[in-house]
Amino acid sequence: MTITARTRVAIVGAGPAGLLLSHLLAQSGIESIIVDQRSRDEIESTIRAGILEQGTVELLDTIGPASRARTVGHRHDGIELRFEGEGHRVDFADTVGRAVWLYPQHEVLKDLISARLAAGQDLRFGVTAEAVEDADSARPRVIARDADGERFVIEADFVVGSDGSRSIARAAVTGSMTGGYFREYPFAWFGILCEAPPSSDELIYSNSPDGFALVSQRSDTVQRMYFQCDPDTDTAAYSEAQLWDELQKRVPGTTLKEGPIFQRDVLRFRSFVAHELRRGRVALVGDAAHTVPPTGAKGMNLAIADVRLLAEALRTLLLEGDERLLDAYPETASRRIWKAQHFSWWMTSMLHVAPDATDFDRRRQLGELRTVVESAHGRALLAEAYCGWPLDA
Ligand SMILES: Cc1cc2nc3c(=O)[nH]c(=O)nc-3n(C[C@H](O)[C@H](O)[C@H](O)COP(=O)(O)OP(=O)(O)OC[C@H]3O[C@@H](n4cnc5c(N)ncnc54)[C@H](O)[C@@H]3O)c2cc1C
Repeated sequence: MTITARTRVAIVGAGPAGLLLSHLLAQSGIESIIVDQRSRDEIESTIRAGILEQGTVELLDTIGPASRARTVGHRHDGIELRFEGEGHRVDFADTVGRAVWLYPQHEVLKDLISARLAAGQDLRFGVTAEAVEDADSARPRVIARDADGERFVIEADFVVGSDGSRSIARAAVTGSMTGGYFREYPFAWFGILCEAPPSSDELIYSNSPDGFALVSQRSDTVQRMYFQCDPDTDTAAYSEAQLWDELQKRVPGTTLKEGPIFQRDVLRFRSFVAHELRRGRVALVGDAAHTVPPTGAKGMNLAIADVRLLAEALRTLLLEGDERLLDAYPETASRRIWKAQHFSWWMTSMLHVAPDATDFDRRRQLGELRTVVESAHGRALLAEAYCGWPLDA
């Protein structure tokens, strides 16, 4: 097979991680090629995460005016934790002096793609990576198939797997597609998008005897809401009226503003961290390295935090021949990864009702929620994690 492309860094996956990495590398004068199996249109229209930590927004600022997080997104200075029919505000500004931005992931991707293409980035859509080889050599390679089905090879100084939770690059690092620490949960989220005005100014995380619900916003006319469901739930199983009933009974004390539902999905919960994040000249970032349940809104933000570390490690490796930051990358990244794993697990277990929960579990859970909302320290602990630990820490 002929080598048809050479570059300094080959990046598999044009999600938030891969695209931001190419930008940070370009800022240091390091060229890269990104391949993604999906079309640009598909990438820019897939609905996923929606909450950006303050540090994420600050990093996106570095792409210039193409980032619309601050202009089109909405700054949120708090969330509501709701239980036993009462809302309790966790005020971010008051507790930690930070904030988050509500700005959908597909809008972040539109911003990053337009900025990278304007800067002349080699970004190839419709190209599927089939394998990453020679991780232990100085010239690792990506074996790929283009949109016409033609196989080709990209040879690089370094390969980064930013190819999401079903990463093929992971096999080159851990020796298998699955090798990692893993936990599954006995529930999932039923998500809807609807045409309606916002039911609240800020996100509501609600615990009720019927299970969890999240009331979130998108714009003045479109809203995103979720409720806890069985992982095997069929999205067609509910009529619109039943969906509103399910949501409404999980947010007692609040009246939801209803409207036509135009998208439904079921989002399964998994916690995963790959056993290794780097082997030789191949490293993993973002969902390729780890996944979290969505309750703490950490998935995309954690991907961005990995990238910031790896970009600096690659800069010192490729421009100064210094491998120390790269050697430290798995350990340094793991500290934040496991804090985010804990936070995501904690928010999930504190707010959802497990199928086998006993009366004791239920009362203990309410005690836990009161411990958080009735203590300035409890609110600050939650706010600090939700807004994101400093990227330099
Ligand atoms: C439905 C859903 C809802 C979510 N909601 C939230 C949320 O509310 N809050 C939150 O923080 N996080 C959420 N997440 C998680 C968040 O979206 C991810 O953590 C984030 O997308 C990770 O970014 P990434 O760049 O690592 O991976 P991805 O965004 O998954 O990007 C990986 C890219 O690699 C490409 N790719 C994969 N395999 C190959 C291959 N073999 N060859 C070429 N390209 C390949 C894919 O097409 C994709 O574009 C959600 C995820 C899903 C699926």
